[in-house]
Amino acid sequence: MGCGCNKNKKTPEQPTNEPTPEQGFQAFRSMVNHQQNGGIMNKMSMVKSFATALTSRGLTDKKTSPASKQLRVLSCFGDADRGGVLPPCEHLKESKTPGKHYCGGCGCGDKPHTWLMSTGKEYSKLDYPRLNCPLNMPGFTNYQHSAPDEANTPLS
Ligand code: SF4
Repeated sequence: MGCGCNKNKKTPEQPTNEPTPEQGFQAFRSMVNHQQNGGIMNKMSMVKSFATALTSRGLTDKKTSPASKQLRVLSCFGDADRGGVLPPCEHLKESKTPGKHYCGGCGCGDKPHTWLMSTGKEYSKLDYPRLNCPLNMPGFTNYQHSAPDEANTPLS
């Protein structure tokens, strides 16, 4: 029994929204697992894409058609340097080797076999008959055509 001033009254524990240390650890572990699995999936799709490109080259160094290559060059490099209006792709990266470029969007890095254009008749990345672009740009195997209704004149 108290005196009625409530000074010594015990208040019941209030539920809080703070996670317990164990809950915090579980959430962190689940986040790390999610990121690692995403990384593995990205790596797997990169490996799959690269394997598909290599297979398409075959043993006889098959190349994509000149028209497809031209489209790929436009998609990656744009045509602003030739007086056109197409800017280069946002993922286009300059190699440490002067005059060479690679795609910064696919994660393959700056290596001679990932250079988009090589010298002379050397085989370059844009020559592969089957080649995916991270942005699904024209000329690449995974290019997504616009739906027919996107070409309709809007009603006003
Ligand atoms: S994202 Fe596509 S268009 Fe852009 S540089 Fe890479 S391959 Fe070329």
